[in-house]
Amino acid sequence: MISKSDNFIDFLKSNFNKRFQFSLHEPIFSGREKEYLNNVIDSTFVSSSGEFLNLFEKSIAEYTTSRKAITCINGTAALHISLLVAGVNAGDEVLTQALSFVATSNAISYLNAKPIFIDVDIDTMGMSPVALSDFLEENAILTESGTFNKKTRKKISACVPMHTFGLMCRIDEIKKICNRWNIILIEDAAEALGSKYNNIHSGKFGLLSSFSFNGNKIITSGGGGCIITQDDKIFKKAKHLITTAKISKNWEFVHNKIGFNYRMPNINAALGLAQVEQINQKIKAKEKLYNFYNEILPTLGLNLSKIPENTFWNYWLMSIQLENEREKESFLENCNKNNVFVRPIWKLLFKLKMYRDCQRDSQKNAQILEETIVNIPSNLEI
Ligand SMILES: *Cc1c(COP(=O)(O)O)cnc(C)c1O
Repeated sequence: MISKSDNFIDFLKSNFNKRFQFSLHEPIFSGREKEYLNNVIDSTFVSSSGEFLNLFEKSIAEYTTSRKAITCINGTAALHISLLVAGVNAGDEVLTQALSFVATSNAISYLNAKPIFIDVDIDTMGMSPVALSDFLEENAILTESGTFNKKTRKKISACVPMHTFGLMCRIDEIKKICNRWNIILIEDAAEALGSKYNNIHSGKFGLLSSFSFNGNKIITSGGGGCIITQDDKIFKKAKHLITTAKISKNWEFVHNKIGFNYRMPNINAALGLAQVEQINQKIKAKEKLYNFYNEILPTLGLNLSKIPENTFWNYWLMSIQLENEREKESFLENCNKNNVFVRPIWKLLFKLKMYRDCQRDSQKNAQILEETIVNIPSNLEI
């Protein structure tokens, strides 16, 4: 019997080349990357200061229509600093989702805070506002000094939803809930540069938010990340901590805090700038691919992810939902055996030994998605 995966493999082999088939999202360098990199080398400013850093930060701020952007060595460092600036303290608890890349919870753990896992919505694959509200109503108490967990008596200081595969979660509802409970909102927008909710760019709902420019993301700076914020004071604090907490005092080395050496090198910013110049083009090309998938995959019995309401999607990673875990396993096996690169969604974070004892709700939807979602090649046509 011909399976759905056989049909999918045939479809890919007859419409795309081998390189397309054999990765989820490869970077493409078709702009001014080499020119800018040469420029950096000639200038000798290859490390944590230089003209491209300022230009890249300015262009990210403009692209996201944000007041400020500050670059970091990677998206995980950007999250770490975001949580620190938001005032997350050791012993606090932070609401987030178990359906995410491990970096989201790792950044919380770097501050000796503890994740609490809230379930996701099936369509957005991001944090469910209903689950968030239910959890707080049942488990939390709002006091003058913030919201506390009735069970552990710990402070719940922040909430970090994630925009899975660039799809926007119901961020405006989540923001309202966070406001009501006096919990600081930080978006893990690592995957969502270019995505918007109600025409507002991802990352603008939180007090501050982070993006990643890792090689597999929608644009890349090699390694890298950034924080955006609409608040000048928050920006100053973040920049200070990212740049070793140095007080500018001509040639003296004066630092007033234990800071971090987290700023992006200028050489990476050069690559990033050349990439962000092409982002609209990239999103258009990916939209075309999605439309093609959307035309064909349903005829093969495959359930392609839909674009949730009110969302402009950057089309970063496309996915299909199989009927059940068994079908997913055989789909993964058959495709990979035939050199078609498909991958399952992440293992839920509470199943990793570091996060086994974290508090969580039913995780009903997260469990369903873990069992059935597979990412498919989402390359620009190459
Ligand atoms: C990529 C990613 C990060 C971290 O980015 P790095 O630049 O690899 O450190 C964080 N969260 C999510 C959801 C990601 O996909």
